[in-house]
Amino acid sequence: MAKQLPYTTMKEIFARFHAAEPEPKGELEHVNAFTLVVAVALSAQATDAGVNKATRSLFKVADTPQKMLALGEEGVTEHIKTIGLFRQKAKNVIKLSRIIVEEYGGEVPSSRAALQSLPGVGRKTANVVLNMWFRQPAQAVDTHIFRVGNRTGIAPGKDVVAVERAIEDNVPAEYLLHAHHWLILHGRYICVARKPKCGACLIRDLCPYEDKTA
Ligand code: SF4
Repeated sequence: MAKQLPYTTMKEIFARFHAAEPEPKGELEHVNAFTLVVAVALSAQATDAGVNKATRSLFKVADTPQKMLALGEEGVTEHIKTIGLFRQKAKNVIKLSRIIVEEYGGEVPSSRAALQSLPGVGRKTANVVLNMWFRQPAQAVDTHIFRVGNRTGIAPGKDVVAVERAIEDNVPAEYLLHAHHWLILHGRYICVARKPKCGACLIRDLCPYEDKTA
């Protein structure tokens, strides 16, 4: 685990991420808050590309909790059976749709506690929805962010909650909203797990990682 980088280095790193991509976007396709919740819930242990392939047909027929309930568990299962854990996920999609209709008037709730009370929605999913839809600076730490945070010293921590705190505490405030996407995309495409692409990395000169590649 690298040491936490100093503030001036953090500022320079995020200024570069910002200059390269001022409005970074997540890659999960969605058309409203409800479809975002469903897409993120389906993405546990699955790739965004795999989820998008399944949800393109699912959201054509069910883009609201009411339509999802009308489709039913079997109908949902048919659309998502290429995704891992699809049976449990189909159950959760139906249960969370029912709760959104019955308890929240058909609207996705905007508090972390309410989001996390939905079946299949954990802390990470809630943070993604808060960040992407409600534009709160919530940090969802996935495997990419955990690796990048620890490898570079941008956000070191022994578990995902510690990394989440390190981001919140150390990323300059003006960059906090988009920090999640910049770090995820950096980890997914440049600072990859086995052989990071250090030669193509825009923060190479600021990164203390000792085993950089050429
Ligand atoms: S220099 Fe290499 S290890 Fe450091 S952030 Fe860039 S890709 Fe990752």
